[in-house]
Amino acid sequence: MKNLKLSVLSHTKNKRTVIPVGDVRLGEDFVIIAGPCAVENEEQTLETARSVKAAGARMLRGGAFKPRTSPYSFQGLGLDGLKILALAREETGLPIVTEIMDTRHISMVSEYADVLQVGSRNMQNFTLLKEVGRSKKPVLLKRGMNATLTEWLNCAEYILSEGNPRIILCERGIRTFETYTRNTLDLSIIPAVKEISHLPVIVDPSHGTGRSTLVERMSLAAVASGADGLMIEVHRMPRQALSDRYQQISPEAFSILAGKIKRMKSAVDDIYRDE
Ligand code: PEP
Ligand code: MN
Repeated sequence: MKNLKLSVLSHTKNKRTVIPVGDVRLGEDFVIIAGPCAVENEEQTLETARSVKAAGARMLRGGAFKPRTSPYSFQGLGLDGLKILALAREETGLPIVTEIMDTRHISMVSEYADVLQVGSRNMQNFTLLKEVGRSKKPVLLKRGMNATLTEWLNCAEYILSEGNPRIILCERGIRTFETYTRNTLDLSIIPAVKEISHLPVIVDPSHGTGRSTLVERMSLAAVASGADGLMIEVHRMPRQALSDRYQQISPEAFSILAGKIKRMKSAVDDIYRDE
C-alpha cells in the first residue's frame, strides 16, 4: 500500500498480536467491552459494572473525559470519573477502558485505566498518538469517522513506532450520506484489516449506528465479520443518559444480547473450524 512501511502490517512470519489485559487475552479470546457512554455518578457506574459483568462482559468502558459536539453539553466528570471507574474495577475485577483526549492527562488517566482509548475525533492527533505510544498501556484506537484503512493503520503505526505494540483497532462507523443512522458501520473493514494487519480489531455498534434498536443485529454481524470483540454502550436508564441516550441499551437487553453473541460466536467458529 502506498506510503506504508508499516510494522502493523502482517508479514508471513508475523503471528497475530495478542494483548493481555487482566486475565483477558485480546486477539485470542473474544472480548466484550461494555459500560456507559459516560461515567455520570458512582451508583450508575457500579450498578452497570455489576450487571455487565454478570452478563459476560470482560472489560468495563466509561468516559470520564467526553468529546462533545457542543461545549455546553456534559463534558464528563474528569478525575472524579476516573476514581469511580477505579472503584468499579476494585469491586468487579473488570479492567477499565477509558478515553484520553489530552496529552496533559496521560499520567493521570494511566493511573486509573487499563486501556487508553483514543477516540474517533483524535485518531489523527499525532501528538497524542506519540504520547500514548510512549506509554506501556494498551491503546484502543478508534477509526476516524472519515479515515481510510491506510490512514487508520498509519495512526496505529505512530503508536507502535514510539515503542508501544499493544494496539487494539476499533471500527465505530464512518460518515456517509446516510442520515437515518448516526454513522455507517463499515463491517467490511474487519476482514480487510485481518487481511493485511496482525492487530486485533473490534467493533463498536453503538456509535456505529447511533440507534439502540440496531445494536443487536450489528453485534451479531460483527461476530460473523471476524471481529475480535465488541464495545457496547450500556446504561441503566438509556433515555435519561447524559450523553448518547439513543444508542445505549439497558442491562437487561445487554444480557440477552450477550447470550446471542455467544451462540453466534460458536456458530461462526464452527463454520470456519478448518480454515
Ligand atoms: C466513545 O466511545 O466514548 C466515543 C466518544 O466514541 P467515538 O470516539 O467513536 O465517537
Ligand atoms: Mn458514547
